[in-house]
Amino acid sequence: MKGARILVVEDEAALAEVVIDNLEQEGYQVELATDGLKAMETWRCNEPDLIILDVMLPRLDGFELCRTMRRKGLETPVLFLSARGRAEDRVEGLRAGGDDYLPKPFHLPEFLLRIENLLRRRGWRQDATEETFAFGGHRIDFRSWTVHVSDGRRMPLGERELGILRLFISRPDEVVSRDDVLDEVWGDDVFPSSRTVDNFVMRLRKIFEPDPSEPIYFHTVWGVGYRFTPEGAEPPR
Ligand code: CA
Repeated sequence: MKGARILVVEDEAALAEVVIDNLEQEGYQVELATDGLKAMETWRCNEPDLIILDVMLPRLDGFELCRTMRRKGLETPVLFLSARGRAEDRVEGLRAGGDDYLPKPFHLPEFLLRIENLLRRRGWRQDATEETFAFGGHRIDFRSWTVHVSDGRRMPLGERELGILRLFISRPDEVVSRDDVLDEVWGDDVFPSSRTVDNFVMRLRKIFEPDPSEPIYFHTVWGVGYRFTPEGAEPPR
């Protein structure tokens, strides 16, 4: 996600400088807004890929700004960065439509990783805006959370199953590690075991594979994870 455009909303000049320097070193394009109203303007006009939003700001505070933009339907990922680090503040930020919340002072590597995660998920959402995907005679419908199986049956799919399918579809023929699946489908907040991923993939095989014990679409890459081949391929011998 290098080259992603990030809007930094921060009224403390010294902190803004540190944040911007570090983001630019990572290859991001950065814009600064120093109060809430300017931030609103830039957010609307330039549609950045991600917003780093301070809470206590002149003219319009970060929570209010975020609520307003979400009401208008803007879905840009928001990372709150605030000196207000109590649990109630973090909850308020997430309720206001923030995607993540990091109290100041923050640990730089953590800050950069959180940004990467948010951008990656956004990319994944955007790649997966196709509403249906067909392979092997099956058709997945992401709007109705169902699959029309090749034998004519229609079956429901769960949120995690759809998430895993979206991830695999976005990376056809690539090795996708269990950790990638956990990161992208489960996120930071829950920690299922990698065994959980295996169980979900087993369920997908039962739905999609002609013979679940000899998969041709959802291959296991031993010790790492999976490879999805929409064209179908013989399992490696
Ligand atoms: Ca501030």
